[in-house]
Amino acid sequence: MHYLDNAATTKVDLQVADHIRKVMEQSFANPSSLYKPGLDSELILRQSRAKVASAMGCTPAEVYFTGCGTESNNIAILGAVEARKEWADHIICTGYEHPSVQQPIEKLQQQGWKVTLVTPNEQGVIQPEQLADLVTSKTALVTAMQVNNETGAILDVQKLSKLVKEKNARTFVHVDGVQGWLRLPIKLSATQIDSYAVSGHKIHAPKGIGALYLKKNSNIIPPFLGGGQEKGIRPGTENLPYIAGLAMAAEMMQKNMPQRKKQIAHCNELLRSQLENMDGIVLNSPQDAAPEVLNFSVMGIRSETMLHFLEQKEVYVSSGSACSKGAASHTLAAMGLPSQRIDSALRVSFSKDSTQEDVQALLEGLAEGMASLARVK
Ligand code: PLP
Repeated sequence: MHYLDNAATTKVDLQVADHIRKVMEQSFANPSSLYKPGLDSELILRQSRAKVASAMGCTPAEVYFTGCGTESNNIAILGAVEARKEWADHIICTGYEHPSVQQPIEKLQQQGWKVTLVTPNEQGVIQPEQLADLVTSKTALVTAMQVNNETGAILDVQKLSKLVKEKNARTFVHVDGVQGWLRLPIKLSATQIDSYAVSGHKIHAPKGIGALYLKKNSNIIPPFLGGGQEKGIRPGTENLPYIAGLAMAAEMMQKNMPQRKKQIAHCNELLRSQLENMDGIVLNSPQDAAPEVLNFSVMGIRSETMLHFLEQKEVYVSSGSACSKGAASHTLAAMGLPSQRIDSALRVSFSKDSTQEDVQALLEGLAEGMASLARVK
């Protein structure tokens, strides 16, 4: 099989799966329990937090485990705004966010918050200045994704946080780092980013585990109430096996970064250079996008038609983001692309498991599909 949909999810690493099973079997005691097995679980929790902190470039005290990227985004956004409602009335956001950011923002707008959306240019790019220039004395939150899940477009979030704080030191800067973490190097403690959301299943850990970086002394009022786990930011008994799995996956991704980057860049260049020479294909990812994602349109052939044609060859790509389930791409629409280009878009996304053979199989499938599939006018 040629799995090229790693932005939707990655395959769990076997070593990670083994480790999770071991923690599940051997360390089932609640980390809050005061007896020895509980203390042993607590030690695993502490060690895991330190590993994730190392992969985020922050202190362990700034890492909070959550259920997924969606939950991390919701906690940060709703929590930051709640803590600033006495003096603020304004939120700034990009027009191409994942639904786990877009929908909380829409809800806040319905509640009376003024929302300014910044759309990308036709190449899919937003400059940090475009967001920061809009900050006023009443801006509670600026939220933006580091790497776009549909095109791979990169936003310089370090620069964004600096520019925002220069305009208003009280404005909270949240970054959705789900597609950026461990792909682009970042040392969060050296930035002015207040919070950064990540997800396990994008880095070869299972679905259902995430984390949130929250800068020391940054003020949020979290939406959930419960026991005091994760210092009350995300209460609920910790999912220790998955937390340990996330930590192991993060450590492995950190270690294999140079080698992996080389391999993924090679796959991307191979695909990009071939696509550029194929009539009827238009690239939708910017030239300097993260190499993990490449989005293009096969003009005249609907995304779903080509996707299912490729599926017969065991080549798996996406017609947009996995969350949109075949709906027209939110990001490509925000870029202002014509509907013929949006309706025929495919997203290919690479991981450490991707090979040159996967790219060749995709290219052969595309050429065959383009020669045999009926075109829409
Ligand atoms: N943010 C981005 C950019 C994503 O791509 C995704 C998942 O596709 C999420 C957030 C949500 O993460 P999770 O699936 O862990 O809830």
